[in-house]
Amino acid sequence: MNFELTETQSLIVKSAREFVERELKPVAAELDREGRFPTEQLKGLADLGLMGVNLPAELGGAEAGAVAYALAMMEVARGCASTAVTMAVTNMVGEVINAFGNDEQRENYIPRLTSGEFLAGAFGLSEPGAGSDPGGMATTAVRGDGGFILNGQKQWITNGSKAGVTVVWARTDTPERRLGNKGLSCFLVVAGTPGLEVGKHEDKMGLRASETVPLTFTDCFVPESALMGDIGAGFKVAMMALDGGRIGIASQAIGIATAALEAAIAYAKERKQFGHPIADFQAIQWMIADSKTELEAAKLCTLRAAQMKDKGAGRFTREAAIAKLFASEAAWKICDRALQIHGGYGYVKDFPVERHLRDVRVTRIYEGTSEIQRIVIARSRLE
Ligand SMILES: Cc1cc2nc3c(=O)[nH]c(=O)nc-3n(C[C@H](O)[C@H](O)[C@H](O)COP(=O)(O)OP(=O)(O)OC[C@H]3O[C@@H](n4cnc5c(N)ncnc54)[C@H](O)[C@@H]3O)c2cc1C
Repeated sequence: MNFELTETQSLIVKSAREFVERELKPVAAELDREGRFPTEQLKGLADLGLMGVNLPAELGGAEAGAVAYALAMMEVARGCASTAVTMAVTNMVGEVINAFGNDEQRENYIPRLTSGEFLAGAFGLSEPGAGSDPGGMATTAVRGDGGFILNGQKQWITNGSKAGVTVVWARTDTPERRLGNKGLSCFLVVAGTPGLEVGKHEDKMGLRASETVPLTFTDCFVPESALMGDIGAGFKVAMMALDGGRIGIASQAIGIATAALEAAIAYAKERKQFGHPIADFQAIQWMIADSKTELEAAKLCTLRAAQMKDKGAGRFTREAAIAKLFASEAAWKICDRALQIHGGYGYVKDFPVERHLRDVRVTRIYEGTSEIQRIVIARSRLE
């Protein structure tokens, strides 16, 4: 095992860190407070190649690999978790098009995602009645004249109204012959397509500067060229995209927890009680020690999954699930301890830790809840 970063990986980390210190950290609290989408910041990320870290250079990507992507995501999430999730979904959309799209789809969409011409991409899998079980989705795509007609609703779509292109899953089997997971197909739907309506922004607990909306499809016609991959192959596309996506969310959780731990350490050195900085008390030191240990373990799991992805030697489903489960659960505890170290001051918006705690909570839910990750891991041992 080699724990040294390559030159490319070091460069990506350095440029992401400089950007975060200069452009993201100073505005993150304000973006959260105002619920303002980070338009300018995303353009900056695109300029640095961070909207396509693991995409080919000829399509405008940084071609730096999955480890570099994970490291960049940790840095960006350390600065602003809302910007990080917007970046994560956009990278995932670019990668899924690169892996499953045809040449025309790749050339049409990926350069626009990586360059920032499209502010973002979106991933339309979840529905009001189908979250953990996407095979239960109800949105349909029925063949029409020269294409498909989409009807149904998607729920919780990150970047829903900002995305130039949304990957949308729909049923292509028939009510008479339901095929379960094999009845799903995948479509690329461009912004502004008639029949696609964006609903009300969700009033979320955290990630308040990111956008989460429902999408409604009403007799929404998409041409034949919108179909990505084969008819009936959509479930496999979603699962493979989520394997990579889970490395991204694990990295996001690590980034948020890193920020929380940094804030807690700084506060513990400054805050005095009983005539001593609270950092002198063993109870506080143990919280810091546990948090640092869990953070390092989370990083190792996550970078191992990313390295397996880079090696391209088959699926890394279990390793990505382990990384997401461990990192998101650990990050939640780390952010909670950071708040505890701040005492009452942790509970108000003058300090950043309450934001970190709100932001990190969803990493245990989206791209597969912790319970679903446990199912994936257990199945890989039991089968
Ligand atoms: C802020 C935010 C952004 C999101 N962005 C996107 C996006 O961009 N695109 C997208 O497609 N989706 C997105 N999602 C949706 C997200 O992936 C789902 O919320 C998640 O998969 C869980 O689905 P659900 O909310 O329907 O919960 P449910 O599936 O209804 O689960 C409810 C509870 O039951 C548990 N549960 C379910 N099945 C089992 C089981 N078999 N065994 C044990 N426990 C079980 C779950 O773990 C959970 O605790 C987003 C969600 C949020 C909150």
